[in-house]
Amino acid sequence: MFPDIVPDLKAKMPQLRGRLLPNQPLAELTWFRVGGPAQVLFMPEDEADLASFLGALPAEIPVTVIGLGSNLIVRDGGVPGVVIRLGRGFGDVKVEPGARVRAGTGVPDVKVSRAAQEAGIAGLAFFRGIPGAIGGALRMNGGAYGRETKDALIEARGVDRAGRVHVFANGDMRYSYRHCGAPDDVIFTAALFQGEPGDPEKIAAEMDKITESREATQPIKSRTGGSTFKNPPGHKAWQVIDAAGCRGLKVGGAQVSEMHCNFLINLGGATAADIETLGETVRTRVKENSGVELEWEIKRIGVRSS
Ligand SMILES: Cc1cc2nc3c(=O)[nH]c(=O)nc-3n(C[C@H](O)[C@H](O)[C@H](O)COP(=O)(O)OP(=O)(O)OC[C@H]3O[C@@H](n4cnc5c(N)ncnc54)[C@H](O)[C@@H]3O)c2cc1C
Repeated sequence: MFPDIVPDLKAKMPQLRGRLLPNQPLAELTWFRVGGPAQVLFMPEDEADLASFLGALPAEIPVTVIGLGSNLIVRDGGVPGVVIRLGRGFGDVKVEPGARVRAGTGVPDVKVSRAAQEAGIAGLAFFRGIPGAIGGALRMNGGAYGRETKDALIEARGVDRAGRVHVFANGDMRYSYRHCGAPDDVIFTAALFQGEPGDPEKIAAEMDKITESREATQPIKSRTGGSTFKNPPGHKAWQVIDAAGCRGLKVGGAQVSEMHCNFLINLGGATAADIETLGETVRTRVKENSGVELEWEIKRIGVRSS
């Protein structure tokens, strides 16, 4: 448990409309279902509420944003400071003229792909296979099946730690593989995507193929965080992990998936420490076996328990 700073914050911010909750469990907000609480969880009503909150929040209080928690390990000691989760007020998806789709960053990726398909907009079907929300896709440059967020993005809106709103053109995001070079403090609030005219039935068939392929090759019904490590240059992460004999390896309640060995899974009773230790064990064994240094793709937030 962290000290409760919510009454102090509320006193400083009488204008606040969103919900501000002390010591809020985060485990159920993530796919792995592990980890400690947020010292404060803030769910802003809309972008203006978020900007006013950040503008008034004392500079020494750390801020962490989470989306749908599909690429996240929350450590067992929880997350000091404020964790921000964007909900309803960031949940609009709109099709615009010129085969464009505008979406709030609280919108699940799959909803964007579906809106585009129904409107006969091709080029956004890849979002069908990514189980996060648009904020996570913008920050991670989420991608699958040969396309990434950077290939479809026109611009993104976001709020910095001081509460100032910015618009980032695609080039300002300085994207590379699973990386966004926009300032780390920016919380994205909305995105505008460019597709191209397409046949709704063909796009629907493409999306069905993506679903089938996921179900056949990934443990998508497990408590997991998706691909644990980025593919190292010239290699597939799963191949070097397999070659190092790590398929099925266990630490406590965490296991390297038998189905796809770049996925770690919580078998039920894992702690965040089990999962992180398993990931580090895999990194060490792969380095010893093939000399390849694996880099975490999954984001780890918070503190270890003492
Ligand atoms: C079964 C499974 C399959 C997956 N397959 C794929 C895949 O094919 N391709 C792929 O790219 N990923 C895949 N992932 C990983 C994950 O879905 C993506 O990285 C996704 O984009 C994360 O979105 P999220 O909303 O869950 O973000 P979270 O996991 O909550 O957060 C991830 C990061 O994004 C940041 N973030 C979240 N919202 C915002 C915001 N509004 N503004 C700024 N930063 C923000 C967080 O601070 C954190 O650093 C998979 C995951 C699972 C569990």
